[in-house]
Amino acid sequence: MDINKKTLSSDELLEKIFYYMERLFEEKELSATLNLLTDLGKTLVNSDRASFWFWDTKKHEIWTLAALDISKITIPENTGLVGAAIMNNELLVINDPYNDPRFNSDVDKSSGYVTKSILTVPVTNSEGKVIGAYQAINKLDDMGNDAPFTDADIKRIKLATAFCGRTLESHLLYSEATEDQLTGLKNRRGLYSHYEKFIVPILANKKASIIICDIDHFKRVNDTWGHNAGDAVLKHVANTYLSLVGIDDGIFRWGGEEFIMLLPGKDMMQASEFAEKCRQTIEASVCHFEDLDIKVTMSFGVSELDAGLTTSENVQSADEKLYYAKSHGRNRVIHTIPENE
Ligand code: GH3
Ligand code: MG
Ligand code: MG
Repeated sequence: MDINKKTLSSDELLEKIFYYMERLFEEKELSATLNLLTDLGKTLVNSDRASFWFWDTKKHEIWTLAALDISKITIPENTGLVGAAIMNNELLVINDPYNDPRFNSDVDKSSGYVTKSILTVPVTNSEGKVIGAYQAINKLDDMGNDAPFTDADIKRIKLATAFCGRTLESHLLYSEATEDQLTGLKNRRGLYSHYEKFIVPILANKKASIIICDIDHFKRVNDTWGHNAGDAVLKHVANTYLSLVGIDDGIFRWGGEEFIMLLPGKDMMQASEFAEKCRQTIEASVCHFEDLDIKVTMSFGVSELDAGLTTSENVQSADEKLYYAKSHGRNRVIHTIPENE
């Protein structure tokens, strides 16, 4: 039996809800969580399609993850029914969309899909602020035929939206807590969680290395050109590294003007070669800020990760080499401290 094609009995519904709840609590990935929430809402109201939209208040956009390939679809914040529901914090039930001026039928025209009923519900956080919207499209009746959305559907969809709101809120709070606001890189907390998730599991059968690097005489940049110029240099360095690291590598803002790169699959010599490439790229690059052209150099410490050490101990190992680089002329890469030092 295709459960989506029939209205569920109370028992079946409860079973479905528990099924989704269990998986939602276990799921840590945002995109997978959103897919589950979307499915939950779709099941609760028995609709043909459903989507969950975020509101990015900074960029004035709303966006959703496409169900199949989790690519992001972004539109201006005041567009269409989702935009209207979000901007006015208003639940919209439309069972005759082609006669509603807020409905944009362009997508239907190009895809051939026929929208017959739409339920759009704002999603709020724990303070009651709108953070997104949930949309179910084309209500189906017992027999799988088109039907209008009813008050019962509104009641049910509110369960999914309440859960959506809390789940999204906790994801947003988590990503804020693990992200550096200035550079957009993951911060120290982000590094620890990345390490546990992506580095620890591979260390048993694969080499991996860590690079820690620090801008030379960065205080002078602030003292000479001001704090905003310093901030611009930090962003410039972060972007330079982002363009150099591979897809599986991690780059983090470890502290003020210190960055860390985690390189799975690279042994110490490979990581050192990569660090040397970073060093040369930074040295050759220019940070343009207002009418200034600012140049900096950086010092690097490189270690191969030791599975027997903790994350902090591995960082410490690379940090000792960075310290050596600093005290031996700066603007250099150190992977081994000479024995007698
Ligand atoms: P060294 O070559 O030994 O690393 O010298 P340094 O001047 O880079 O190191 P020091 O630790 O003396 O100074 C680091 C400076 O970085 C001091 C601090 O004000 C600045 N800094 C830290 N975080 C930020 C930030 O977010 N923005 C700006 N503009 N400056 C920052
Ligand atoms: Mg420094
Ligand atoms: Mg420093």
